[in-house]
Amino acid sequence: MDRFVQSKPDPESFDYLVVGAGLSGSVVANQIATRHPDKTVLVVDKRDHIGGNCYDYTDLHTGIRINKYGAHLFHTNSKRVWDFVAPLATWIRWDHRVIANVEGHGLVNLPININTVNRLCDTNIQTADEMQAWIDSNGHNNTSEEENGETVVVKKVGRHIYNLLFKEYTFKQWNKYPSSLHSSVLARIPVRTNHDDRYFSDRYQALPKEGYTAIFEKLLEPDNITVSLSTDFHQWSQFNPNNLANGININTNKKPIIIYTGPIDHYFSQVGYPALEYRSISFKKETIRNCEYYQPNSVVNYPGKDVNYTRIVEYKHFLDNPTNSPDTIIVSETTNDHGDPYYPVPNKKNSSLYAQYQQLSLQLQDKYPIHFLGRLATYKYLNMDQAILAALEWCDREIV
Ligand code: FAD
Ligand code: UDP
Repeated sequence: MDRFVQSKPDPESFDYLVVGAGLSGSVVANQIATRHPDKTVLVVDKRDHIGGNCYDYTDLHTGIRINKYGAHLFHTNSKRVWDFVAPLATWIRWDHRVIANVEGHGLVNLPININTVNRLCDTNIQTADEMQAWIDSNGHNNTSEEENGETVVVKKVGRHIYNLLFKEYTFKQWNKYPSSLHSSVLARIPVRTNHDDRYFSDRYQALPKEGYTAIFEKLLEPDNITVSLSTDFHQWSQFNPNNLANGININTNKKPIIIYTGPIDHYFSQVGYPALEYRSISFKKETIRNCEYYQPNSVVNYPGKDVNYTRIVEYKHFLDNPTNSPDTIIVSETTNDHGDPYYPVPNKKNSSLYAQYQQLSLQLQDKYPIHFLGRLATYKYLNMDQAILAALEWCDREIV
């Protein structure tokens, strides 16, 4: 594709500079380019591929498609988002399911439903009313407690299930117990009063038959978009915040307009504030020869302390096994705090630090047209559909 350039372009010769070719940056670039065919857009990413954390590729040996940065399941209740993505791929309905392998109890459904409780608590619940009665008698509603990741679970299902499914998994994932995290993190996992074993209950849930990277190729297809990979925005000293704030090296017509989707604290690293906390993942990929399937489901979670990984993803399960390979591939995920930033860590300390960075971004916006968007720049635990919606709504406000 000739829009992908090898040489390093001059950002000031473009109307817009989008930093990050992930979902937020690619949707914004696409909307600017299609709403204003006369404007030029430069998209840069420091990685050597487009797609951000949604990037996927086909393993050459087995033909199995893998998400480089962890399995990505598309789900949304937003008709606007669905209408936006629908023409970008051949979407195949996919009701994602997750099984948790609980030490001493075997495989159980997650989110918690009637089957989960029966298995972990040795009950014989059959109906929604019985399940509700179980929740009412097992949950602990101590209203004097401040709501956090622990209380939000314990008040629904009690401490026994909390200990088995959430306490240590969360510690492995975040290096923090749930009580030190905002309630929204664990509230992502609902408790159901029926037998529904799907991970999400959204109206639209599907996987793109041709993979996610093909979607990004379409988003970045317009002729007025140029993409420069392996290009770190911070190489351009004229855009460092000190220079921008002091008016040094600024093109007088304030070009390009910048949309920055990298980590907000990396942008302001010269200001001297403490860094925001992120969680990263190390992905261990193994090809298992002559093994049709390694595990019974695409994702198996390991909530116990017995292993250090949080989950194992077996990609061959997705989309009804699209390969004839006799082998399979599994990827185990172990989190850490030193790799690429994947997860903002939602708690009070980070929220108030983020508010300080946000204040800096507002001050900068008085001097230069720069906008902060996406999971890393707004420090929000956004799912794909939320990132798309935020990008579209930003375009509604700013790209008139
Ligand atoms: P990103 O995808 O992180 O893109 C930001 C881009 O900016 C990156 O490509 C980065 O290289 C680039 N960048 C950063 N700094 C610079 C710089 N200085 N110069 C140039 N480029 C830079 N969502 C779902 O809906 N369903 C799921 O199942 C799901 N699973 C997930 C699993 C994992 C392990 C993770 C981490 C996320 C998951 N998500 C899922 C969330 C989804 O990945 C995000 O919603 C989405 O990727 C957000 O897109 P973004 O563009 O804001 O950020
Ligand atoms: N969680 C848990 N046990 C599990 C699955 C999830 O304790 O088996 C908690 C954990 O804190 C996790 C959060 O619930 O970070 C949200 O889970 P989700 O699957 O939405 O996380 P993601 O897919 O974004 O990693």
